[in-house]
Amino acid sequence: MGAREAALPRGEGRTRGTGDPCGAAYARDTPDAHGGSPRLCDAHVHLDLMSNAADVVARAERDGVALFANTVEPAAYLAARREPWSFSPNVRLGLGLHPWWVADGRVGDEDLELLDSLGDVPYVGEVGLDFSDRHTDPASHDRQLAAFRRVARVAARSGAVVSIHSVASVDACLDVLQEAGALDSADAGAAGTAGATGAADGAAGRCRCVLHWFSGSTPELWRAIRAGCYFSVNERQVRTRRAKEQLKLVPADRLLLETDLPAHEGEPLLEGELEGSLERALVGLARIRSAGRAGAGPQVDPAFVEALRATCAHNSRRLLGL
Ligand SMILES: [Zn+2]
Repeated sequence: MGAREAALPRGEGRTRGTGDPCGAAYARDTPDAHGGSPRLCDAHVHLDLMSNAADVVARAERDGVALFANTVEPAAYLAARREPWSFSPNVRLGLGLHPWWVADGRVGDEDLELLDSLGDVPYVGEVGLDFSDRHTDPASHDRQLAAFRRVARVAARSGAVVSIHSVASVDACLDVLQEAGALDSADAGAAGTAGATGAADGAAGRCRCVLHWFSGSTPELWRAIRAGCYFSVNERQVRTRRAKEQLKLVPADRLLLETDLPAHEGEPLLEGELEGSLERALVGLARIRSAGRAGAGPQVDPAFVEALRATCAHNSRRLLGL
């Protein structure tokens, strides 16, 4: 669950710094022989909060869609781990410790104790911080930080792929991840625009960290890029003015797509709903990254969309071992 509700406001390949991020992005988005499946990946979805997860996973297998299934608390992760759908080759199941659940006490001390009994956990999410007053009580910040530090240590120990909620708290999230050794701290405090070089895959600390639904400042974006983070992008995000500026800046090899579905806990997901949301995110992202290119018209170039689809799928396969 992300910045969506509530007032629901809510690589491989080193990339080069460039004064022409749109053109460079297009060049890097050129399709190559990725081949294989899946052709789409939802890098942040809440299968266990849907009433028909098994159906959703069966359809995803049929349609070549992979799913990074995030949970929101350790008990839910343990329960989901027993569900037959979690064994699908198309599913990666994450250990969750969502900041909203931590902030309002739904995750208690006993739940946090579970973290120490889990051993290595290859996938972690949804975890992070939410310092927006619209979502959490400011009095919860210390508790959120303590919980996130604890799960960040589990992630670092495991070398996990981590999906991170970072509303009004990107710098604080990166601080925690770097202190835990999940991310390299060499970039700490660095901000600017000189070269979105990013660390190569695997060279940025022990974890591969994905900022889900990034909504931070541009200096925070640069810091996250330099720290080697990935970015999972959804259909609501691509409509925002800030995203239109920022998503041009992200190196192509760090881009992923997500839905953050379901919109409401306990809902079933209808046929085509997840894939439709991914497609809208893809087209919106393509529109942003192709805007201003020489020859770009009012309609986004279908070839650019397909190239970006291939890039996101390739990134997902590499990140999630699909
Ligand atoms: Zn979420």
